[in-house]
Amino acid sequence: MEKCPVCKELKKGKFWCSGCGAVFTCPVPACGAEIRKPQDPSCPRCGLLFADYIQGRKMYRQCPKCRKKQGLSESQCKFCKYWFMCPTCGHKVPSTSMLTCPRCATRLG
Ligand SMILES: [Zn+2]
Ligand SMILES: [Zn+2]
Ligand SMILES: [Zn+2]
Ligand SMILES: [Zn+2]
Repeated sequence: MEKCPVCKELKKGKFWCSGCGAVFTCPVPACGAEIRKPQDPSCPRCGLLFADYIQGRKMYRQCPKCRKKQGLSESQCKFCKYWFMCPTCGHKVPSTSMLTCPRCATRLG
């Protein structure tokens, strides 16, 4: 264990601090993004909600449009049909107002 830069306790693990819950590296093996703001509630790259993962190893994301929680592996919101990733090329859809994929121009929604 190392010293956590947020709470200064020796509770910093590989991915997060077990003392204050700050996350430093996304624990999803396929992602592994460096979390620049350790108090972020979710991964900026893959969308994982850290609290559910740390408490119960559950991989959930929150839809940026309707705010409902669902499995991280979904590429489209089950509730409002918002695409998290382009169904054709897998590109992350960066905005809730996008109607086409910025990379391959697939129509979304
Ligand atoms: Zn800490
Ligand atoms: Zn991630
Ligand atoms: Zn939604
Ligand atoms: Zn695409």
